[in-house]
This record gives sequence, structure tokens and C-alpha cells, in this order.
Amino acid sequence: MIIANDLETLQNSLLEIAKNGKKIALVPTMGALHTGHASLITQAKEMTDCVVVSIFVNPTQFGKNEDYSIYPRTFDDDVKLAQQSGAEIIYAPTVEDMYTNGFSTIISVGDMGKILCGKFRPSHFDGVATVVTKLLLRIMPHIAIFGMKDYQQLCVIERLVSDLDIPTEIVGAPIIREEDGLALSSRNRYLSPDERKIAPILYKTLQNTAHNLKSNNVSEILAKGIADLTEAGYKVEYLELCDSFTLAPLAEYEEGSRLLVAAWLGKTRLIDNMSVEENND
Ligand code: AMP
Repeated sequence: MIIANDLETLQNSLLEIAKNGKKIALVPTMGALHTGHASLITQAKEMTDCVVVSIFVNPTQFGKNEDYSIYPRTFDDDVKLAQQSGAEIIYAPTVEDMYTNGFSTIISVGDMGKILCGKFRPSHFDGVATVVTKLLLRIMPHIAIFGMKDYQQLCVIERLVSDLDIPTEIVGAPIIREEDGLALSSRNRYLSPDERKIAPILYKTLQNTAHNLKSNNVSEILAKGIADLTEAGYKVEYLELCDSFTLAPLAEYEEGSRLLVAAWLGKTRLIDNMSVEENND
């Protein structure tokens, strides 16, 4: 297992691997790794010869009052889990290594980054798009795997890779959930025991909403979903039905549409999403 904390070490390791003609996968993360991340690494290992896991809590994707400073950092455990799951290289750059003095370029995908989560986290997707572009250019992987858990993020990355002709195949990986349906997230550890009991209602509401959507008025069903979440103790940012490629909001159910939700439980912001068909099949 190679641990690279700077670009030079990373690229020297990658040179060796490229010399041997190995196929490289990148799994970008912010650390605090859990089984959801492990599933991405395992999938990457099945598809390629060498998996690079990046661990970088990217300051530019956090808003001023968000949780950057308290975001969980569990590096030693992360290294173990990444290795067990099949990673060969960990790239854990410092902020200085990633953003050298005077850094000022921003990659923005436009409207797709301004809707849904982007409405509530205005510069979030610019931060994500910029750091992922840098990671892809630094590593030049054959594939990069992103979880559908962060569905808007996956769409944003697909958009930028297509728009900028970056020769990396983007792979979307299924959402890994707890037994009670709560999607695994590094932020779940912020939940109090009482909040943890309520948390799976987010998933159940998505299921119920998806189930009722096909045959009912969309705005009424979405309003009912928001009311159910509010009654359970959530403060809902949005619950929307969207086109699964463009993320454009839909007023009517269409084949291939996706439900996306973001809501606060106390001080924890949770997101989730679901394909309407998946739930109805
Ligand atoms: P993060 O460390 O939260 O930035 O996540 C790194 C990658 O892991 C992203 O592509 C996420 O979508 C993915 N991921 C996080 N949680 C899950 C999950 N429960 N299931 C599948 N992928 C996940």
C-alpha cells in the first residue's frame, strides 16, 4: 500500500503502474470511510488492476457556516478499510498541495449545480467540480467511481467530464444502506441516538412517495412527503421529482425520473434519492 501526501509521490507511483500497462481506477472520498465507500473500492478493483483512493476534505466545497472544521477525520482506520477493500494507493494531499499559492480557477457546470442541493449550498458544486477535475487530471484514471448516494454530484461529474473531454469513464455505484434503510454517510455519526431512530423515515418517505407517484398528482404527493417528514421531526430543504440525466424538475411522472431529498434532522443534513421505477418494479 502506497500513501502519497503530495503530487510528486503520487505521480512517481503512478508512473510505475502505468509502465506495467495496468488499468487505474480512482475512488474520490473525503475519508471517514464506511461500508458505502468500501463497496466503491471493491467495485473499482473488480473493474481495474490498481485502485487509487483519494482522501481529501475539500475546503472549497463547504460553505462558511458548514461543518468543514468538525468533519470526521479517521485517517488510520481509513487506510485499513481501503487496503482491505483492495486499494493500492491512497492519495491524501494537504490543502497546500491541492491548492498551491494563488489558486484561482473555478470549474462550474452551470444550472445543474444551482438547483436542488445547489440552491442551499451555493458554491458547493463548483468546489466539487474543481477538485474532481484536478484529481482526474492528476491521476488520469481509466475509470472513476462515484456513489449514487450523492446523485446530483454524480450528474455534475458526468456533465463536466463530457464537456471538458476528460478521457475517464465515470461509473455510478449503488447506494449502500443500513438494514433499516438509512443510507450510509460519514455524517450519520452526528446523529443523536434519538435522531438515529427517526432517520430511516427519510428512506421510507422516498419509498412511499415513489410508490404513489405514478398514479397520483405529483405536487400533491410531494407535498404529502414533505408533511410526513416534517411531522417526523425533519426540516425539509427539498423533495423533488427530477429527470434522472438533466435533473430538471418534473411536474408529471415520466419514465426514468428520480426522487431526490435533502432534510435536516437537528444539526445533521441528510440527503437521499431513489429511482421511481426501482421502487415500483
Ligand atoms: P464522501 O466521502 O462522502 O465524499 O463520499 C465519497 C464517495 O462515496 C462519493 O462518491 C459518495 O457518493 C460515495 N458514497 C458515500 N456514501 C455512500 C453510500 N452509502 N453508498 C454508496 N456510495 C456512497
